Parts: sequence; structure tokens; C-alpha cells
Amino acid sequence: MKVLIIDDSPDALAIAKARLSKDGLDIICAEGGSAGLDAARRENPDLILLDVDMPDMSGFDVCRELKGSAEFQMVPVIFLTGSTDVNDKVKGLNLGAVDYVTKPFDAFELRARVRAALRTKHLQDLLVKYSRIDPLTELWNRRALTDHLGQEWAKLQRHGTPIAFIMSDIDHFKRVNDTYGHRIGDEVICRVANVLIENSRQSDLPVRYGGEEFAVLLPDESVQSAATLAERCREEVENIRVDAGGEKVSVTVSFGVADTAGLSSPEALIESADAALYQAKNTGRNRVVTARAEQTVGRSTLT
Ligand SMILES: [Mg+2]
Repeated sequence: MKVLIIDDSPDALAIAKARLSKDGLDIICAEGGSAGLDAARRENPDLILLDVDMPDMSGFDVCRELKGSAEFQMVPVIFLTGSTDVNDKVKGLNLGAVDYVTKPFDAFELRARVRAALRTKHLQDLLVKYSRIDPLTELWNRRALTDHLGQEWAKLQRHGTPIAFIMSDIDHFKRVNDTYGHRIGDEVICRVANVLIENSRQSDLPVRYGGEEFAVLLPDESVQSAATLAERCREEVENIRVDAGGEKVSVTVSFGVADTAGLSSPEALIESADAALYQAKNTGRNRVVTARAEQTVGRSTLT
């Protein structure tokens, strides 16, 4: 894990670095408050050790600035202070620091406090990750979609980068559950999820939207290329065979595809893809419908 040490004294930096390097940590040093802020933004550290007394910018001001931005809210800060004044310690903790170490510090105490803060950070990172993943399919969940769509929408507003969005739903899924039971139903859901994962780019976000509903968020894509991807997924799902005690279960999926052209909110993008999906369901299922022209671009030859 990466630790950033911010201190105006080169000697203090060298000592802290020497103490912590023993624990196999990646240590970055920044001399002074504003250099520290730059390093924090550049290096994305897991923990920040922050001197209070610095001539260019106090540690309190650095901490206030860090904690004011969303990207550092979850990054623990430990103050390094020469002061034994309780008010200073309280002030630091109130600004969002998790701990403080009094200078001159004991090497064992510094290392123990750093380890404790990193342990908590690691658990917190795991919680954030698990709160965003669907446990059955390991696709992203709706919480992750909402966050990611918000970020992509901000990019769209800054740079005009378009976003495409696919909504999909397994056709007549209730029949699978009712006929073969939930274990086979879950297996079908996982196999469909795998098709979405295998056809997504690194930058796409495949999502389990609900029970048998899926979505894919495609940053910097048009409705046409998203429809091509949906059509490929539709064809691959047709070839899935799930073994249910000798019987081969197959399913089909309907897709609605939209992009952000002419839309004014992230919610409108989801609604637009949802309306196209509704159209796909209403015109016979197992097909891809794009929102703009409500065009069917792909349809099974089997039905
Ligand atoms: Mg100092």
C-alpha cells in the first residue's frame, strides 16, 4: 500500500521513510503543504502522514482541503505534531484525521499506528467494493451504475463525450424458474451475465439491474455500436444450453439501446433504453431495438 508523508523538514521525511520502509510500504515524500497536495492528487495514496507545522501551508489547511474533495474522503490522515496541546489534537481529529503521532515519534508506535490505519482502510475498500457487486453474477449492481453514470454524465457535460446504454431482460424467465427451479434459474442468469462480461470492453460497465434484468453502460459510444454489441450478445445467448437433469434449457434476451444524443439527464438515458426494451418485448422479444428510431436491428431467425 502507498503512504504519502508530507513534512516541511527533509530530515523528518527521511526518518519517517526509513522507519516505514521496513513494513514493505511504498513511501512517497513531499516537502511542504502545497507540494503535498500535488503529490496526493498525483499518487492516489492509501494513507497520508501530515505534519502540522509547515511554513507554506499548515497541516490543518492541507487536511481541510483534502477532506473537502470526494476523492480523499476515504483516505486516512495521521497528523504528525510536535505539539502536546490537546486542542491541536482535537482540531486535527475534527478536521477528519483518524489519528495523530507526537514528535519526536517512537518508531514502533508510528509503525503500529500506520498499520492500524491501513488495516481499517483495506476493510473499508473491501466494503465499498462488495457493496457495488452483485454476489450471484459478480456483475456491478445498480448502486455502482448510479455512481458511474453520474461520473460519465459529468464528463459528457465537460467534454461532450457521449454515453450509450443497453437495457436487457431475459424473455419469459419466470417459466424457467417455475419449470426447472431456482437453481437452474440462477445458472441461466449467470450464463447470460457471462455473455455480457465477455462482450464488454474494459471501459464498459456490465450491470445486473434487477432479477433477470441487465444493463451495460458504454462510455464514449454511439447507439449504433452499442446496438452491434447487443446483437452479438443476443446471438450468443441463443446458443446457451443449461443442463437441467438431462434436459437442455435455452433462453432468449430482449434488448433496448439508447444514447445521450438530445437527452438532458442520466435518468432520461435509462428511460429511453427502457422504452426501447419495452418495444422489443412488444414486438416479439429476442431482438434489439434502438431508442432513437425505435428500429429493430436484430431478430432471431428461430422465432
Ligand atoms: Mg514542520
